[in-house]
Amino acid sequence: MSSKFGSLPRKQTVAVKVGSVIVGGGHPVVVQSMTNTDTADADATAKQVQHLAAAGSEIVRITVNTPEAAAQVANIREKLDAVGCSVPLVGDFHYNGHKLLTEYPECAEVLAKYRINPGNVGFGRKKDDQFATMIEKAIEYNKPVRIGVNWGSLDQELLTGMMDDNAKLAEPLDTEDVMREALIVSALNSAAKAEEIGLGRDKIILSCKVSGVQKLIAVYRDLSNRCDYAVHLGLTEAGMGSKGIVASTAAMGMLLQEGIGDTIRVSLTPEPNGDRAKEVIVAQEILQTMGLRSFNPLVTACPGCGRTTSTVFQELANNIQAYVRSQMPIWREKYNGVEEMKLAVMGCVVNGPGESKHADIGISLPGTGEAPSAPVFIDGKKVMTLKGDNIANDFRQIVDEYVEKRYAKHIC
Ligand code: SF4
Repeated sequence: MSSKFGSLPRKQTVAVKVGSVIVGGGHPVVVQSMTNTDTADADATAKQVQHLAAAGSEIVRITVNTPEAAAQVANIREKLDAVGCSVPLVGDFHYNGHKLLTEYPECAEVLAKYRINPGNVGFGRKKDDQFATMIEKAIEYNKPVRIGVNWGSLDQELLTGMMDDNAKLAEPLDTEDVMREALIVSALNSAAKAEEIGLGRDKIILSCKVSGVQKLIAVYRDLSNRCDYAVHLGLTEAGMGSKGIVASTAAMGMLLQEGIGDTIRVSLTPEPNGDRAKEVIVAQEILQTMGLRSFNPLVTACPGCGRTTSTVFQELANNIQAYVRSQMPIWREKYNGVEEMKLAVMGCVVNGPGESKHADIGISLPGTGEAPSAPVFIDGKKVMTLKGDNIANDFRQIVDEYVEKRYAKHIC
């Protein structure tokens, strides 16, 4: 069954409450991210969580890998609450989650969700017991879990068994097909075990992450056809810079278009000293450019060509995009629907006036050899022409006035 969100059909999944955020059940696709600080360093981690949340991350995951890290989770939550940051925190557990959740009850209490990787829960007979302990803790503290299977840490016992069974077939499947099936079986079997232990279906989110675009699309299509659990989408180890952005967008864009995915994370490798919040901005831009959600006003800008020999319009487009983003924390509080505003900054008369007319506010800058004036269009009509050295400031002022006039909240 599918439901509608925006103009795209969505796969109907079971809604899961993660703190104050609802994932699945036809709710808007949720943006999440993950810190890369040492969780034992509560100050640094709280600061980065706050930064990610301010950029728009609606859920933030933190590593909980050691007793020192688990001991700081409640402290991190307190620091965030003290500055009014209520973003739900998710604990990422591998190997020792059963111990940490048992020995650090405050950690188990303040986390909004536990991430469990079935391939990294333990070995042999201990594996089932340790998995069961984590699920029992989730039941005790009334928390949801994400059963997050990963290509790089697939349950080896399961995979070996499935490979052996496959080898006995008259026409064995490709190794890659068996691995894909093993990812899905690992997620579904673990979810079934969690339900047998007593965890509700509305407390389970699934993910099956791989690092290849086509593989990810195939795995999630299959997973989505075989269950109605809420789904976390993400291309693992997407990579750096444009490669990571393009690969994540190609894979997740295709799945979101098919209605698959209730929450997304873009796993970008940060540039040295780069901004961790980039992954949040990319996730928002995927959803917004696809028409699934609106987060920030979008600036349409032309690429420039031989008709623009100066960088004036590039600088203005950049300046306006940065200005709008910097104003959004204030605008969001004061104005209704401002995130849907469309701006256009164009380089010359060829497409400038046309594109500007389609935006809420557009400016068409002079190309080479054109008169040194910039017509401004508001709601499709030319309202003025800017001239001189102060065009950027003048245009910002026009944007401010438009926002105040069109989006101000009216208090009755
Ligand atoms: S609008 Fe003008 S400057 Fe921009 S790409 Fe088109 S022709 Fe070139």
